Order: sequence, then structure tokens, then C-alpha cells
Amino acid sequence: LAKDRGKNNYQFYTNQLHGLSSRKMELENGLRKALEQNQLILHYQPQVNLNTGEIIGVEALVRWMHPEKGIISPAEFIPLAEETGLIVPLGKWVLEKAAAQNKVWQEKGYSPIPISVNISVRQLQEDRFIDTVKQVLIDTQLPPKYLDFEITESVMQNSEKTAMILDQLKELGVTLAIDDFGTGYSSLSLLKHLPIDKIKIDKSFVDDIVHHANQGAMVKTIIDMGHNLQFNVIAEGIEDQEQVTFLLENGCLVGQGYHFSRPLSMEAMEELLSKNKKLKGILQ
Ligand code: C2E
Ligand code: MG
Ligand code: MG
Ligand code: MG
Repeated sequence: LAKDRGKNNYQFYTNQLHGLSSRKMELENGLRKALEQNQLILHYQPQVNLNTGEIIGVEALVRWMHPEKGIISPAEFIPLAEETGLIVPLGKWVLEKAAAQNKVWQEKGYSPIPISVNISVRQLQEDRFIDTVKQVLIDTQLPPKYLDFEITESVMQNSEKTAMILDQLKELGVTLAIDDFGTGYSSLSLLKHLPIDKIKIDKSFVDDIVHHANQGAMVKTIIDMGHNLQFNVIAEGIEDQEQVTFLLENGCLVGQGYHFSRPLSMEAMEELLSKNKKLKGILQ
């Protein structure tokens, strides 16, 4: 059909504009199909109280179950989704799925915890984003305080528009976190004025906290700064008990990382929640 050909030509043309290589185009078409054919799934990584091991939150992390290639990591396809705009429908799917899942867990009677969803800048700045979030809250009936959005420091680049969107989100009652904190460009004065609830210290800082004095000093500084600005502070990428001890000694009480749990399938996460499981806290 001429109409279809027109559409394909258009797609090809826009891909050329984006400078996408043919491998990328293949991946893009695959990703489009993945969305239509339910090849995306969410995994869930617990966020824990470092003192008690109690699960106090969970982060939703998307995976692509490719029919031939197996599981593809978001590190591979999220950048492409951002580049092509596919992040908008993809991110919407993630948001709907995560909120609905959290509601299901609450209805099963597990202790209510917030679910964190990663939001790309492009998604955040898309015109309908606020309406999408409102609709998800209505559809799922998840109380907004159990929905947390993780954004990166790159949102600071378009500060005025971003500030407005973040204010609108806060009015809905959801919470906001800065992900990968310390790796991007954050203006401290801007940070203070944005309605942020939480910062997540990036794994790269946590990696060497025990063995490199400089890294330790850096993390301590981030923790203190975060608390001084009234943010909750959470450490990402914790892989051993020494890191837990360091973080606790320096006032960071919440963390996430392989030391406690890798991202889990829905079933495995549900198993932990149903048993009210504590994850290797320092007291154990
Ligand atoms: P992120 O949001 O900073 O998520 C943390 C990443 O670190 C996850 O990788 C997680 O599996 C991994 N991780 C957690 N603890 C440890 C640890 O102790 N050691 C190590 N080595 N890694 C750890 P994942 O799931 O591959 O996700 C990578 C990134 O992809 C995420 O980084 C996030 O930026 C992005 N992403 C994932 N899902 C989504 C999504 O639904 N939407 C958007 N926009 N981005 C997403
Ligand atoms: Mg994240
Ligand atoms: Mg992160
Ligand atoms: Mg990251």
C-alpha cells in the first residue's frame, strides 16, 4: 500500500536525520515490536534500611526479553529509546506496570512501600507527562505517596520548564529523587530550589568508599550536604558489608545493591514481601 510505503519512507528519513546506523535501526524496529508484543518485563530491586535489613522500597527496572537474543539490559536500549522518542511509550508502559504491581502488592496485604520508577528527561518534558501520571494514579488507585520518580541531574539543563513540571508532580503527591547523584552537573542552588525529596548516591562513589580515603570523604560530604538540604539520602550499588558499615557510621541509613539483593523477578520480589523478609542487615 502506498500509505504504508509512505510511512516507511518517513521512518527511514527520520532515522537518517537521527543519524542511526542500520544496526541501530534494527534495534529500534525490534524495540517498537517489543512494546507491541509484550516483550518488556520489570524486575524489582529492594531498597533497605541499612540498620535492620527491612525492605522500605523497591525500584522497578525494565528488561527486554528478546525472542532470539535473550534478556537485553536497559543500558543497551534506553539510550536508543531516548534518542528515537520511543522512551515516551516505553516509559508510560513502565509507569503503568510498576504502579499497578505496587497496588496489587498492597491489596495482598504486604506492608505498603513506595515503588521507584526511572523517568528520562525526554519523558518528563513531554507535554502529556503530567496527564499520564494523573491517569495512572486514577487507573491503579495507588496512593501517590507510594510512587517515587527517579530523575537524573541532566534535568537541571532546562531548569525553568523542569522546575514547573516537578512542582506539578509534587502537587500530585508523588515523591522525587535524583538518581546517580554526583555523576552529572548539579547546581547546588538549583537543587535547593527544586522540590526534591531524595538523592541517590551513585554506585561509582560507593565502590571505593572503604579503601580510598578520597572516595570516603566525598561520600561523607554528599551525605552531609544531602541532609543539610533536608533530602533523604540513599546509597546505590552496595556490594559488601564494609560499605554498609561505612555508610551507617556516616549517617546514610538506606541503601540498595547486590549485597542485599539483585533486581528480582516479580515472583521472587513477591516472595520477599510476603515473608516480610529482612535482608542481611548489619544487626544480623
Ligand atoms: P539506575 O536507575 O541507576 O539503576 C541501578 C542499576 O544498577 C541497575 O542496572 C541495577 O541492576 C544496577 N545495580 C544495582 N545494585 C548494584 C550493585 O550492587 N552492583 C552493580 N554492579 N550493579 C548494581 P540496570 O537494571 O541494568 O539498569 C541500568 C540503568 O538503566 C538504570 O540505572 C536506569 O538509568 C536505566 N533504566 C532501567 N529501567 C529503566 C526505565 O524503566 N526507564 C528509564 N528511563 N531508565 C531505566
Ligand atoms: Mg534508578
Ligand atoms: Mg542510579
Ligand atoms: Mg545509572
